[in-house]
Amino acid sequence: MLPPERTPRQRIIDVITGTRLSSYQLAQMLGIRERQVEEHLTHVVKTIARDKSRRFVLEPSRCQDCDFVFRDRRRLTRPSRCPHCRSEDIMAPRYGIDSAGSRSGPVDSQVSNR
Ligand SMILES: [Zn+2]
Repeated sequence: MLPPERTPRQRIIDVITGTRLSSYQLAQMLGIRERQVEEHLTHVVKTIARDKSRRFVLEPSRCQDCDFVFRDRRRLTRPSRCPHCRSEDIMAPRYGIDSAGSRSGPVDSQVSNR
């Protein structure tokens, strides 16, 4: 188990390293609200952006009905409705941290400081 003195942000970094999790899953694992997870994630993104050895990966939201991918979306939260087909059946974005040198698997869209 993770030691209790770690901050939520450190714990988020720990649990998403090497995997992909939605904010809902993170909220469950950390015992905090999804809203708080998203708040922490914005800081995690900045922390990781300064760290040359790691990179933050965002798997964008996707519409379950027409496969529209929300690639240009900057916010980390899940969009409520598909602009293409108006469906509300949107798959939540998922977050992860990879080591910068790793070449395993396809590279997902990456959060940058554009
Ligand atoms: Zn759609």
